Amino acid sequence: MIQSPLSRWIDTALAIAYPEQCQLCEQHSATATQGYVCRSCQKSLRPTKPPWCHQCGLPVSANQPPDAPCLNCRDTDRQFHQARAAFTAQGPMREIIHRYKYDQHEFFEPLLKQCCLQATLPSPTTYTALIPIPLHPTKERERGFNQADRLAAFFAELFDIPINAGLLKRVRFTETQTHLSRSQRLRNLRGAFVCSNSTCEGRFLLIDDVMTTGATASAAAHALKKAGAQQVDVLTLARALPF
Ligand SMILES: [Zn+2]
Ligand SMILES: [Zn+2]
Repeated sequence: MIQSPLSRWIDTALAIAYPEQCQLCEQHSATATQGYVCRSCQKSLRPTKPPWCHQCGLPVSANQPPDAPCLNCRDTDRQFHQARAAFTAQGPMREIIHRYKYDQHEFFEPLLKQCCLQATLPSPTTYTALIPIPLHPTKERERGFNQADRLAAFFAELFDIPINAGLLKRVRFTETQTHLSRSQRLRNLRGAFVCSNSTCEGRFLLIDDVMTTGATASAAAHALKKAGAQQVDVLTLARALPF
């Protein structure tokens, strides 16, 4: 790959801060433009592949009829239309996202940007705007940034869709949901989002880093639809698998 003078300069500057070593396996060499993840660790990242649930994008077994919703979707009233993810949130991808989000390991960003290129849009529609799923302002202050904003910027460039970051607001602070069941998550998120415009007609694509049960995306989609959105889809970098 031919490097621009700027990216060579960034490589040099970062090499002073971090040794040119893979930050996952700490064995092989990796550069700043690789997001400090070596080739062999990058090979172990798993893009999602069909067959998947046509609604939530969860990979399903090949025996499942193509248009049947997965078990999760069958007994949940999902407020979004369709969701897709570029990768499964397993092994190294899980670790990268976790460290990016909670430890501010922003050096992973060049790799995350590359990973976004693997994404496909959930449905063949013309989206009005991408909407990064907002954090509560208190949480965003604590964390220093919203990872969904950064990913939305990558997807906006890739798909040439504008971002509307101000349309959706997170008005209720919710504790981390990692240890909650799906029904607890749904209860926890009730009323967490509101639309800043009383009318927001259009087709929107919600962006987030990981979708787990889909409860957050569903609550966000509910707020948009209540304000008049015709369709809300979801695109995430990764999808947590329930097995
Ligand atoms: Zn490695
Ligand atoms: Zn599903």
